[in-house]
Amino acid sequence: MQEIYRPGELPPLGEVPPYMHAAMIRPERYGAPEQAIRIEATRVPAIGPGQVLVAVMAAGVNFNNVWAALGSPMDVIGARQKAGAQEDFHIGGSDGAGIVWAVGEGVTQVKVGDEIVIAPVVWDERAADIRMGADPMTSTSALAMGYESNYGSFAQFTVVDEYQCHPKPPQLTWEEAGCFLLTAATVYRQLRGWQPHVVEPGDPVLVWGGAGGLGSMAIQIVRQFGGIPIAVVSGPSKEEHCLRLGAKGVINRREFDHWGRIPSAEDEVEFARWTAGLRAFGRRIWDVLGERRSPRIVLEHPGEDTIPTSMYVCDNAGMVVTCGGTSGYSADVDLRFLWMRQKRLQGSHGANTAQFRAVTELAAQGRLDPCLSAVVPFDQTAAVHQLMYENRHPAGNLAVLVGATAPGLVGRPS
Ligand code: NAP
Repeated sequence: MQEIYRPGELPPLGEVPPYMHAAMIRPERYGAPEQAIRIEATRVPAIGPGQVLVAVMAAGVNFNNVWAALGSPMDVIGARQKAGAQEDFHIGGSDGAGIVWAVGEGVTQVKVGDEIVIAPVVWDERAADIRMGADPMTSTSALAMGYESNYGSFAQFTVVDEYQCHPKPPQLTWEEAGCFLLTAATVYRQLRGWQPHVVEPGDPVLVWGGAGGLGSMAIQIVRQFGGIPIAVVSGPSKEEHCLRLGAKGVINRREFDHWGRIPSAEDEVEFARWTAGLRAFGRRIWDVLGERRSPRIVLEHPGEDTIPTSMYVCDNAGMVVTCGGTSGYSADVDLRFLWMRQKRLQGSHGANTAQFRAVTELAAQGRLDPCLSAVVPFDQTAAVHQLMYENRHPAGNLAVLVGATAPGLVGRPS
C-alpha cells in the first residue's frame, strides 16, 4: 500500500493510506492566515464507532478558519489540549464535499462510495440534554467541526459522524457542493428557526454583508419564503451580485459613518451626529422598499459596528438575529429600543440536521445557487483565507480543491 498520495490523487476506493496532506495551523505560527496555515503531512485520523472517513474532494472557506489561524478570540489548539487532546495542531475546514471512504462500527445510513456533503457541526447524540429533547445545536456537547473540533476538511481525509453526511446535490460540481452548506444552513436557521419570527411572504428582511457567504445565501432564502431582502454592502461592485440573487435594493454602508459603539449622550454633538446617521440609514431602507416599513427581521453578523443600527431599524416586535461578530463582540444595545418597542435580540448558531437537510434539498432542486465565486488549488489554502481576513475576497462562497483534480467535476473519478 502506498503510504501517502499527492493532493488530487486518490487511493483505490476503500483503501486508507496511513498518511495524508493537510493544511495545518500550529500555535507557534498563530497570526494572519498566510503565516499560520501550511500544508504538512500527518496521520489519517482513526474512525470510531458511528463515524465515517471521507475523502475530501473540495472544501469550503469560512471565516472560522481565519479565527483559528489568528488563535483569537480562542486558542482552539490550547482549548482542546486542556480538555485532554494530544494533537498540537489544528486542521481547519467546516464545509466540504467528498466520497465515503471507510465507515466505523454501527454506521447504517451511508456506505463506502457514497458522494456526500458535510454538515459542519458535531454533537454527542448520547448527551443528557439531547436525550431530553433539546435541539442538538443547543446541546452543551455541540462543536463547530474544523474549528472547535480538529480534523476539518482542509485535508485529503476527514472524519465525521454519520449524521453529518447529506447526499451531494448530484448536479453540483465538487467545489459548488463543498462551499455552501455552513453559510446556507446558518442563515436558514436564522430566518426559519426562531418562531414566531420566521420570514413570511411580504416581510422586509435586512441582510448585512449581502455579497458575503451568509448574505448571498440569505438573500435567496428570504426570497424562497416570499420575503423582501434589502442588502447592505461596502461598494458598488457588490451591488449587482445582490440584485441578481433577488435583493429588492442595495445600500452602500460606506455612505454612512455612524458605526461602532454608541457615543455617550453627554457628548451632545457627537451623539447628535450619530443619531442623524442612524435615522438616515433607516430612511434609506424605506427608499428601497418604496414605503415606510421597517425590517421584521434583521440578519446580523458584523456585530459591534452594526448592532446599534440593527436594533434601531428593526420593526416594533421584530427580531435582530445574530450569528457573529466580525467587527467585534462588544456591541452596545440601547435598551429603550428593546423594551419600549418590544424587539427581540436572538442568538443563532449553526443548524440542526433537519435544517442542514432542508438547504441541501433546496440546492439539489436547483432553488439555491451555492454562489461559488472562486476556487483555488490546495496549495492556495492559506492565500484564500488571507483574502477573506482582509475582506478582499470576491462576492459569494469560496472553495479549495483537495481531491478533485480540476474545477467542474461532478462525480467520482473512474
Ligand atoms: P464573509 O463572506 O466574509 O461575509 C461577511 C460580510 O460582512 C462581508 O462580505 C462584508 O461585506 C460584511 N462586513 C464585514 N465587516 C463589516 C462591518 N464592519 N460592518 C458591516 N458589514 C461588514 O463572511 P461570512 O461567511 O458571511 O461570515 C460572516 C460572519 O459570520 C463571520 O464572523 C463568521 O465567523 C460568522 N458566522 C457564524 C456562523 C455561526 O454559526 N455562528 C456561521 C457562519 C458565519 P461588505 O464589506 O460588502 O459590507
